[in-house]
Amino acid sequence: MGATDPSSRPPRTDVKAPPFTYHRPDTLDAALSLLAEHGDDAKILAGGQSLIPLMGLRMGRPDHIIDIGRIPGLSDITVHDDRSVTLGALVRHEQANTSADVAEHQPLIAATMPWVAHRAIRTRGTVLGSIAHGDPAAEMPAVVLATGATLVATSASGRREIAARDFFEGYLDTALRADEILTEVTFPAWPSDAVGSVVEVARRHGDYALVGLVARLEIDAGDIITNAALAFFGAASTAIRVPTAEDILLGARANAKTFASAAQIVASELNPPADIHGTTAYRKHLASTLTRQGLEAAVATIGVPS
Ligand SMILES: Cc1cc2nc3c(=O)[nH]c(=O)nc-3n(C[C@H](O)[C@H](O)[C@H](O)COP(=O)(O)OP(=O)(O)OC[C@H]3O[C@@H](n4cnc5c(N)ncnc54)[C@H](O)[C@@H]3O)c2cc1C
Repeated sequence: MGATDPSSRPPRTDVKAPPFTYHRPDTLDAALSLLAEHGDDAKILAGGQSLIPLMGLRMGRPDHIIDIGRIPGLSDITVHDDRSVTLGALVRHEQANTSADVAEHQPLIAATMPWVAHRAIRTRGTVLGSIAHGDPAAEMPAVVLATGATLVATSASGRREIAARDFFEGYLDTALRADEILTEVTFPAWPSDAVGSVVEVARRHGDYALVGLVARLEIDAGDIITNAALAFFGAASTAIRVPTAEDILLGARANAKTFASAAQIVASELNPPADIHGTTAYRKHLASTLTRQGLEAAVATIGVPS
């Protein structure tokens, strides 16, 4: 049988986005007016690194795309007097990765960025796009949970603040309304006694994690843990904290025995969904192992004895 002339094949439609109307507003107000007009039929386009693939797979079919990429003033990284840090809607992953301000004031974000996809994707994809998208296997939703960040949602009728713990409502589902743009995220000042780490297991470098952990501890001069956050990704339908394991850490010495107890609780509390990449049991095992490794990696930064 001879080869088929490619030009005689019917065009493939399965990897092309369905038709849509493209808008490129020059101001935030214009973008918000368009969103108010088209609501559920519209999607914001930031870096396009998640939205465009999803449309190609026909998992998203917005009639209107509102591209915020040319709106000035949305790419700022601001360090406030109290050392909290605000990122605007168009701060790219790679901008955060290379920012001296982020490295100095928000070490957990700096530690996270190299795990996010590949550099080519990081140069387009935005930090807030990742948060707004709410992929349960993405790193940044877990970072905002672990740090207690505050998100700002803006619509034509005003702005409102949403605590990170109230933001992620389900698989790719957040507290953002259809007429709102996520315009800012503010990370509270990093305490001087805080340590943190990001650990994950992925099949290949740059892939989404099978399971990952963002760990953050505050430890006093006597090696006692005074604050703890364990935020997992790839372990539930959203990024998720495990309060019972955090409670075990509170008031305990920061050592291997304490971390093993927390790891045991994580294994019993989490019930990660299975998919073609891993069973529930495998992901539980990963989450538990990563708990120990992540906590040990966190304290290693200040040399607390184990
Ligand atoms: C091969 C590949 C590997 C990847 N690996 C990883 C990984 O390991 N970890 C990871 O975290 N990510 C990964 N990503 C995703 C990447 O980080 C995306 O950039 C990110 O998830 C979304 O950011 P974006 O700016 O591209 O958003 P877009 O794709 O433009 O938008 C994503 C969604 O969020 C909405 N949205 C975006 N910005 C806003 C806003 N300001 N307000 C309201 N809604 C908004 C859009 O409407 C859309 O629904 C990967 C992507 C690819 C293609």
